Amino acid sequence: MPTAARTRRPVPQGLPLRLALAAALLAGCAPTAAAPESTRGTGRLVVAYEPARTAGERAARSFLQERRVLEDAAAYADARIALPRDVPLRAAGCAAPNPYWDEKTGRITYCYGFVPEARKVFAGLDTGGTPAERAAAVDEDVVGLSNGVLFHELGHALVDLYDLPVTGREEDAVDQLAVLLLASGDERHTDYAISTVNAWGALWKASEGGDPGVAAYSDVHSLDGQRFFDWACWLYGSDPRRFADAVDAEGNPDGVLPRDRAALCPAEYRRIASSWHTLLGPYLKQR
Ligand SMILES: [Zn+2]
Repeated sequence: MPTAARTRRPVPQGLPLRLALAAALLAGCAPTAAAPESTRGTGRLVVAYEPARTAGERAARSFLQERRVLEDAAAYADARIALPRDVPLRAAGCAAPNPYWDEKTGRITYCYGFVPEARKVFAGLDTGGTPAERAAAVDEDVVGLSNGVLFHELGHALVDLYDLPVTGREEDAVDQLAVLLLASGDERHTDYAISTVNAWGALWKASEGGDPGVAAYSDVHSLDGQRFFDWACWLYGSDPRRFADAVDAEGNPDGVLPRDRAALCPAEYRRIASSWHTLLGPYLKQR
């Protein structure tokens, strides 16, 4: 998805990704039981790194630590939202690569295995440039998608910890919170949202043409293609002038958002923003 500040990048075609990868990415978000909590929160995300067990996990941990991915995400969230208590945000080796919120332990886990999986998604994007420039772009996108995923998981945590009402899919609701947090921030964070849009686009394109199947249709998450258009729509809706190039239009080969949907996106974003501001009102540190 293009912006004025970033190279225009059309949705890639036919990436050589396995469906298993698509299913694995961001699939670790099972609905969770609510844990009632009504007091005004003062807690924050507390980053911790568990031991890396393999060379791959060590590489992922180094990547995360050098770029302060978790620390920066925690600080960004802490500047905006108070939690009812401190919530561990831990990096760890996991059986599956999907980051997740666990209401039983009250922790958000970022799995080391997510780094190489995300890298595979972005490695197939044709962003142009030299190999070194492409590698740097992939790293930036991995950081961006990691933020998109972390704020999605923070949404699950908030729903549980504050017993927030949710109608419809919780997965969609916390995607909306993630877009809202990123889109309402600085340019770096809107770039993170763009990386996340592109990840969904890549995963959707990788599976396009095949029937998603029972597992995808019955899953708690919307389909990859739906999440791609939703994220693109809400980001566009956050600032239609800035993201005008995202809309499909004559003479704009980078446009990905059909005009019929685009026309609705500003109102969708306003509703998302007002809804989450209502839900989180007592716990917001800034508006
Ligand atoms: Zn989820």
